Amino acid sequence: MHRFSFKHNELYCEDVPVRTIAQAVGTPFYLYSVGTFLDHYRKLKEAFKAAKPLICFSMKANSNLTVLSALVRSGSGLDIVSGGELFRAKKTGVDPKKIVFASVGKTREEIEEAIGCGILMFNVESAAELEVLNDVAGKLKTLQKIAIRLNPDVAPDTHHYITTGGKANKFGLDRDTAYQLFASAARYPHLRFSGVHIHIGSQITDAKPFIKAIRRSLDFIDAVRAIGCPVESMNIGGGLGIIYSKEKPQTAREFAGAVLPLFKKHNVGKDLKLILEPGRFVSGNSGILVTKVLYRKSAPTKSFLIVDAGMNDLIRPAFYGAYHEIVPVVKVKKRGALRNTDVVGPICESGDFLAKDRKMALSRAGDLLAVMSCGAYGFVMSSNYNSRPRVPEIVVRGKKFFTARRRETREDLVRLETIVEEVL
Ligand SMILES: *Cc1c(COP(=O)(O)O)cnc(C)c1O
Repeated sequence: MHRFSFKHNELYCEDVPVRTIAQAVGTPFYLYSVGTFLDHYRKLKEAFKAAKPLICFSMKANSNLTVLSALVRSGSGLDIVSGGELFRAKKTGVDPKKIVFASVGKTREEIEEAIGCGILMFNVESAAELEVLNDVAGKLKTLQKIAIRLNPDVAPDTHHYITTGGKANKFGLDRDTAYQLFASAARYPHLRFSGVHIHIGSQITDAKPFIKAIRRSLDFIDAVRAIGCPVESMNIGGGLGIIYSKEKPQTAREFAGAVLPLFKKHNVGKDLKLILEPGRFVSGNSGILVTKVLYRKSAPTKSFLIVDAGMNDLIRPAFYGAYHEIVPVVKVKKRGALRNTDVVGPICESGDFLAKDRKMALSRAGDLLAVMSCGAYGFVMSSNYNSRPRVPEIVVRGKKFFTARRRETREDLVRLETIVEEVL
């Protein structure tokens, strides 16, 4: 459930009409329901309560500081993938012992910084990375906890750009290599091999691939414990699917119901710490992108709605062929038959569309449209392509709305540039 709903034919975010916000801040803009972020986080926490998990919100899905701070205040940890995300994480005041750091390409500088602030754990993706980690931890005179990211070789049914746990994938380590690393843990005296990590992909609507991957991981944990490695934690990653259109994803409770029994003999919560890293599940349906119709035009087979948001603001349709529902912010009756419509942006690319071949009521110039389910991988993937200032992020809590990130100005676009006289 999310808190975007129609009252009297008008779209509300929590208790605020979206139209009111559009009048105040202009379009386009991202709009987040803070209540929805917290609801989704709490749902997962509640479903897994018996295991007392550490839930680390995967901040690459939405790294807005207000959103992150709200989650952190509610007890969430953070899953980071870069030094930039660590910098943002620190701004939220999150307990560093609730930060986990994954990435196939952590630099030495990022590793130094993260060890320096005392993060809980690194999710390690290669043997070469272990060398650097061990070296830095030694220089900083710490014993750093690490988890090995296991590639469990499962291929969930999702877009090929967002599966990460197949054996041809760049992520994680195959079982044999991972086993060898645990067996040679003594070679890394400054690291404590304390966990196993998996993350098999994203937008996975069904528990089966998770079950398969977790079974394989638990077998793996048994195998390395048998050779004397005291594994303390199992991180099952993120990847939970959400509803964009007609998906019927597992609920948090169903997911927990499928997953927790697998841990029965591992005494999860006591002998084995459970970690989760949801991104999309918490944030996807917690945000929308609001845009205005600039023009409409007809071609022989379809209508085009040209709107003021483009692929630089929301790249998911172009990048992943992603579907986002698009609804009018104010529903108007008697606009005639539904038409085959493309909703497109102003950018000079054929890939610049938000929707293709939709049956939509005819909109007019000036109408507001809401692109739904944009809270994950929306703003964070936006760019300045075509010298378009990035749009603001507005947050709603109850009856009030606030600007959490202001709209970029034209000056912001050129702030970092110099005209180099010497080359003219
Ligand atoms: C992206 C990512 C996540 C979050 O994925 P979602 O599909 O958004 O839940 C979790 N863990 C890791 C390591 C990731 O890279």
